[in-house]
Amino acid sequence: MTTEPMTSDEMIQTCLEHTMFSWTATGKVSPLPIARAEGVYMYTPEGKRILDFNSQLMCVNVGHGHPKVIAAMKQAAEGLTYVFPGAATEPRARLAKRLAELCPGDIDTFFFTLSGAESNENAIKAARLFTGRFKILSSYRSYHGATNACMQLTGDPRRIHNEPGSPGFVHVMPPWPYDYSFGDDEEQITAQHLRYLEETIMYEGPETIAAMFVETVTGTNGILPPPKGWLQGLRALLDRYGILMVCDEVMCGWGRTGKLFAVEHYDVVPDILTMAKGLTSSYVPLGAMGVRRKIAEHFREHVFWGGLTYNAHAYACAVALAAIDVLVGEGMVENAAKQGAVMREEMDRLIAKHPSAREGRCIGLFGMMDVQKNAAGESIAPYNGTHPAMGRLAQFFRDEGLFTFVRWGSFMCNPPLCITEEQLREGFAIIDRGLDITDEVY
Ligand code: PLP
Repeated sequence: MTTEPMTSDEMIQTCLEHTMFSWTATGKVSPLPIARAEGVYMYTPEGKRILDFNSQLMCVNVGHGHPKVIAAMKQAAEGLTYVFPGAATEPRARLAKRLAELCPGDIDTFFFTLSGAESNENAIKAARLFTGRFKILSSYRSYHGATNACMQLTGDPRRIHNEPGSPGFVHVMPPWPYDYSFGDDEEQITAQHLRYLEETIMYEGPETIAAMFVETVTGTNGILPPPKGWLQGLRALLDRYGILMVCDEVMCGWGRTGKLFAVEHYDVVPDILTMAKGLTSSYVPLGAMGVRRKIAEHFREHVFWGGLTYNAHAYACAVALAAIDVLVGEGMVENAAKQGAVMREEMDRLIAKHPSAREGRCIGLFGMMDVQKNAAGESIAPYNGTHPAMGRLAQFFRDEGLFTFVRWGSFMCNPPLCITEEQLREGFAIIDRGLDITDEVY
């Protein structure tokens, strides 16, 4: 085997020939060649610099190649790497203790997994075992992972290709459906939606419903913070019927929204909190399901019928501790809140300037812009298809060295939480020029 570094073309061709890519036909994918990455920038083998405006999949929260995390990885590799999940290890103990300090309310016990989907899979299992009920409610405008049950939990149309999937999942409209509204203002939307939800619960039979899953702030389906009072109202409604509340913070957790966990914006404590991505800033794979005391107590007496070879992987736990130290210790959560205000300002500027820019949503450094109208103010992009102008916008971003996801009529704005104001404005300057294209074509 040659040790010569590969060129971009060699990497692309070999990956296309011998690997499968997520969510796409291999013949239609055009992979981005990346050789190295540092801070908020990635580099191709030929040295082209690319600004990471999506933290990859909203997961490299502390930025790429952070020296303190890399040093901790080297040190951890010389210690304990893997032992069976029945073992007690120092990284497992230290990480669980740290999470118990950081998580909201009495969420103080953790089951470690390898991914967001596995965290949700185990949350489904825990909710069913704890309540003795089987139905799980979730929202149509949601994504919870690509394993079998998580695809069924997911509401967005990716679910359809996995059907009939697993039984026992019931989808409800979110408070922000795509094309109609539950009311004229947030209070009305919240009140109407909670009434709709209660009626749904009555028709499904509350005694059959184990849990409702929500993304605290909906991620890939639109970056949608919940309307005022909704999460608090949901907490009270679910409590009334003995239904567990599961907040999926796989994407919106770990500082992304400007608070360590997004539930802190709304002052609610879910029964189960799921996480992954930012837990290690994705330097290594690790996820977790955090449960409140009452659930932890239950599983002290009753078997938790679940297990993973890599549960509480010692190396991954050690790396998570280092990534959390950097995230919290270097003020990156506060920086997400601070730079979030700059993002808001930039989005408002672009909306005022570009007729094709319809809306920009952001909370902390969790953002998305919709490019969905023409100069006459008419809506352009259908929610289930991508206008060719968006394809041109995606190509422009790529040519100009801005990495983000362009999907349907929107694109993402989720840089690493270490980004500076100057770097953030550099990204929006590229977006500004890109929107000239959509203005012209629409
Ligand atoms: N939940 C949410 C909210 C997500 O955004 C994702 C992934 O993007 C997942 C779950 C699944 O995580 P993973 O891809 O690590 O399985």
